[in-house]
Amino acid sequence: MLEDEQFGDPHVHAQSIVTDRGQLRAALTRALGRAPTLPATVVTACRQRRPVAMTSVLPERVTCLACREAAREAHLRAAEALEALEALEALQGLPTANSEHFRQTRRRALEHRDLARRLG
Ligand SMILES: [Zn+2]
Repeated sequence: MLEDEQFGDPHVHAQSIVTDRGQLRAALTRALGRAPTLPATVVTACRQRRPVAMTSVLPERVTCLACREAAREAHLRAAEALEALEALEALQGLPTANSEHFRQTRRRALEHRDLARRLG
């Protein structure tokens, strides 16, 4: 059930977790062997519970300023963590430096940097 205050909220929010629901659903489907039913509401980056339809994973659609700032910070932290992992693997001289895992880590870090830039 939605609270009254939510009906007057004109903003599109960002979800509090960095991973988007499409990726989450795909990962759960792979793990469970069937498509899960996800909740109809989510916690936003500005710490409110809102219907999924009032959120977006596209930076250009997020109009809540608190969400833009919180999501930008979350994407930067995620990029830094992935880059630290990448640097650690490179420092260790692991043969994984040219592996698919290494390339995926780099690509995901760049995606988070791009999302942070679009939110800023
Ligand atoms: Zn918000």
